[in-house]
Amino acid sequence: MTSKKGKHISIRLQEKEKSDVSHFTSMPEEDKEKIKKLVFLLDRFCISDAAYHEFTMVHDDLPRSYLLIQCKNELNKMVEIERLPGNVPGAMINLNSEIEKLLERHAVKHNDVSDIKIKFSGDGTKVSRISNFVIFSISNMSINGSLSFQEQQTFAIVECSETYDNLKKCCKPIFDQFNSVLSKKEWHIGEKTLNVEYFVSADMKFIQMLLGLCGATGEYACPWCKVDKEGRSDLTRPWDYYHNPSIGRNIEDMLDGNFKKSFGCKHMPLISLPVNHYVPDELHLMLRITDVLLRNLIDDAKEMDGDSKYVNDTTDSGEVIFEKAKLWLEHFLEIGTLYSRKGYNLHNVTPYMHCLVYHVPFFATHFGPLKMFSGQGLEKNNDIVKQIHQKKCNKWDSAVSALVARKRLEFGHTNNLERGKRAYEKSSDWWTNDLKNSRSVKRRLMLEEISEADIDNKSSVDFTNMADHELKLYLKSNGVNTKLRKREKLLSLILSLNV
Ligand SMILES: [Zn+2]
Repeated sequence: MTSKKGKHISIRLQEKEKSDVSHFTSMPEEDKEKIKKLVFLLDRFCISDAAYHEFTMVHDDLPRSYLLIQCKNELNKMVEIERLPGNVPGAMINLNSEIEKLLERHAVKHNDVSDIKIKFSGDGTKVSRISNFVIFSISNMSINGSLSFQEQQTFAIVECSETYDNLKKCCKPIFDQFNSVLSKKEWHIGEKTLNVEYFVSADMKFIQMLLGLCGATGEYACPWCKVDKEGRSDLTRPWDYYHNPSIGRNIEDMLDGNFKKSFGCKHMPLISLPVNHYVPDELHLMLRITDVLLRNLIDDAKEMDGDSKYVNDTTDSGEVIFEKAKLWLEHFLEIGTLYSRKGYNLHNVTPYMHCLVYHVPFFATHFGPLKMFSGQGLEKNNDIVKQIHQKKCNKWDSAVSALVARKRLEFGHTNNLERGKRAYEKSSDWWTNDLKNSRSVKRRLMLEEISEADIDNKSSVDFTNMADHELKLYLKSNGVNTKLRKREKLLSLILSLNV
C-alpha cells in the first residue's frame, strides 16, 4: 500500500508469532538492534531489570525482559574482565586492548592525524556514604571534543579509598600494564603506523600519590619540582626556572631504589613516566585556586573566572602566560601587604598557585592549551558510574557490575544506539504567551492557597496559653522586635498585629 504522501506501508495480517523468538541470538538483526537500543536506554537512565519486567507485564507489546537480559549477557561477553588483587572489589579490562580500540576508532575517524596523545586519568569518587571508587580511564587528546564523557574509556574500577598503599596493592596489574605500554611508542593499526605519546592527568592529590610524594601540606609538595614551602611565594625566578634539571624532579632518580628519600618522596612512584608528562587537570586547578579566593571573600573571583578561560584557550607563549599568572599572584599577595588582610600572605600560596605560575606556562608551551587535559569529562564519568552503582548495581560485586554497565554504555555510544535528536520547532505563541500565563496563574493560585492556610493557622493559635518568651518569639517571627516585658502589653501588641 502507499499512503497519501507516497510512503510505503505494509500490513502483516497473521498473528504475531511470539513463541518463535525464544532466544536473543536467534532473532533477526533488525530486532536485535532494537533490543540493544532498549538495553542502552535502561543503562543510560539506570532502570532496573525488575522495573522493566513490570512494564512488560502491563504492556503486552514490549519485548520480554528475558530477551533484554540475554542481550545484556551477549554484550557483556565482549569485555573480558580481570579481577584485581587485594580483598576489595576491583575489576579491569586489558589496557592494551583498550588502547588498540581507541586507536582503531581514531584511525577510522581521523585518518590524517598520526601523532596521538593518550591521556591516562585516575580519580577517586565517593559513591555512597561508606564506599569510594577509584576509576581509571583513557582518552584521546589529539582530537577536538575529547572533553566529553563519551570519549572517556573506562578500563578499571576499584572500590577502595584513595591512598598510596591501597593503590599499590589493589591496582598493581593496572600499573604493570601501563608501565609496559609506555615503552610502546608506535602502534600498527591496519596498515597505518601511529605515534603515541602518553600523559597522565589527574588532580594534584592523585598525581602526588602516583609519584609517591607526601600530600599538599608537605614541605616539598610540588610534583614537578623540588621547591619548598617558602620558595613557592618567591616570584623573582624566570618562567622556566623550575623545569631546570637542577631543581625539577627526575623520575629516574625517584625510581632508583638507592635514591635518598628526600624532597617529599615517601614511596616509589607507581608509574615510570617522566614527571613533565604528568599534567594538572585544568578543572581542579581552577577550583582549588578559586577555593582560596572564596574563603577570603573577595570580588576578584570574577576576574579569576576570566583568567581561567584564558589559561584554557590561550595560544600565547609560555613567557606571556607566566607574566600574566605572576601578575595575578602579585596582586593576590599585595592585598595582604597593603591592606593587611588575613589570608593573602606568603604562606597562603598553595602548590596549585605555584603550579599555575611556574608549571602551567611550561605545559602550555610544550603540549598546547590546558583545555586538552580538562577533567570535566572525567567528572561526568564519575557521576555516571556513581549513578550506576547506586541504582543498578549488584552490590556484592560492585566493581565488576559497574564496569560492565559502563562498558555497555560506551558500546552504545560508539555504535550509535543513541536516538538522534528530533527536529522540533518552537511554536512561538505557546512559549511567549501560554506558558508564561499558565505559570503565573499557577504561582498566583499557590500563593493564594498559602496565604489562606496561613490565616487559618494564625487564628487557631491560643495566645493566652503561651509563655512570655513564646509570645516574644511569635512577635519576632512576624518581624516585630520589642523590649516590652509585661504580658498584657505583649498580648495587646499581638492583637494589634492580627487586626
Ligand atoms: Zn613546582
